[in-house]
Amino acid sequence: MGPAQREKVRRYDRQRKLRKKYNKSEEELRAILKQQGDVCRLCGTDSPNSKYGWHTDHCSETGRVRGILCRRCNTAIGHFNHDPKLLRVAAIYLEAFDLNVEDGEF
Ligand SMILES: [Zn+2]
Repeated sequence: MGPAQREKVRRYDRQRKLRKKYNKSEEELRAILKQQGDVCRLCGTDSPNSKYGWHTDHCSETGRVRGILCRRCNTAIGHFNHDPKLLRVAAIYLEAFDLNVEDGEF
């Protein structure tokens, strides 16, 4: 198998995996990123912060793609189990600390 054919097989394999995992083609995922302005949907960085490229964030139950994220944001929401309530609590926690910083509670 020559390099051209190997590349073709690799691309076919990648397309098949994307289709199976996200029900999207590489072109469709690229279109989503473009629709987001070619930046992370959460923090707005124009760099995926990863040698593996952008992360496709999807709902594990439905498989639906929520958006394209940089590695940092994808990891961050993963650590919070993709739980909006927990993420809201974390935001309130951080904001409350900023508001109370002059109280010298700790
Ligand atoms: Zn980000």
